[in-house]
Amino acid sequence: MKKVFVPLLLIAALFLSACSQAKRETLHTYAFDTVVNISAGKEDIPYVREALDMCGEFENIFSRTLPESELSLINQKKTASLSSDMERVLDFSLSFSALTDGAFDITIAPLTSLWNVKQRTVPPSKEEIEKAKENVDYRRVSLSPLDIGDAQLDLGAVAKGYAADRIADYFKENNVSDVIIDLGGNVMLLGEFTVGVRNPDAPDSIFAKFTLRDKSAVTSGAYQRYFEYGGKRYHHIIDPRTGYSLQSGLSSVTVVSPSSMYADALSTAIYILGEDALSLCGHFPDTDALLITDEGEVITTEGFEKKYSLELTDN
Ligand code: AMP
Ligand code: MG
Repeated sequence: MKKVFVPLLLIAALFLSACSQAKRETLHTYAFDTVVNISAGKEDIPYVREALDMCGEFENIFSRTLPESELSLINQKKTASLSSDMERVLDFSLSFSALTDGAFDITIAPLTSLWNVKQRTVPPSKEEIEKAKENVDYRRVSLSPLDIGDAQLDLGAVAKGYAADRIADYFKENNVSDVIIDLGGNVMLLGEFTVGVRNPDAPDSIFAKFTLRDKSAVTSGAYQRYFEYGGKRYHHIIDPRTGYSLQSGLSSVTVVSPSSMYADALSTAIYILGEDALSLCGHFPDTDALLITDEGEVITTEGFEKKYSLELTDN
């Protein structure tokens, strides 16, 4: 399906509207450098509290900035033994890095630290970028036994997805359904919900909506974290091949999958690789994507419209 919109700034964030809003309650926490919202029926709130605690536990494993997290200990070469959560994420991430031929690369850390888009106002120099690039290469990392060589790992593109999957498992094990797990726009749903993609220039208006059941939806886009310099936008998704945040022609990529980890990794990778990488979805079961180009064109995987009852609004 292809449809051209009026060329507005079409940038997406996920907005959710649940069925039985009145009977629901939402609790919040701050983890993974973002606001986490988990919503369930009022009677299930004790499970929601437990799930929010799990976010803190996952942060202690995957955070690149907490000095005592498992990831930080790995990066400081203070440990070579891996938790099963870390092993699963690294195992998947390394094979996914290979699948994308290194466009997605978990050894991106020297570049993400250098760019540090949350604090920077001026881009780093070419020399600094070339130097940071030297140790970016996922092929230098091996598991069992773990050896990262001179590399530094950054799991920012997959960890939230993995956490959302494990939290969903926790609810399922306790027979809790009708749950929205929202880790800063990285959404996992248990039950049926309408998901809206909205225009941040007019945050109350949704320009596309679709319906998901027991699935995750994850959006990657340049609008999430960036600074502007010399009329150019520098954002948090970096092309390991150039060392710069790139302009791939897409303003947002939303991936829908039963696995939030797959959706998370795919949305970042497709954002980097552009429209042609839509076919990557075919490597994962029941996984689809909706892209918005800089010109406001909407591109989806085959059959998306019907499968998810996609509606495009007139924004
Ligand atoms: P997301 O918001 O899921 O698209 O992921 C963006 C985050 O992934 C960034 O904040 C970095 O931590 C990390 N990242 C940036 N560029 C890459 C890349 N090329 N491959 C893997 N991870 C990346
Ligand atoms: Mg991601």
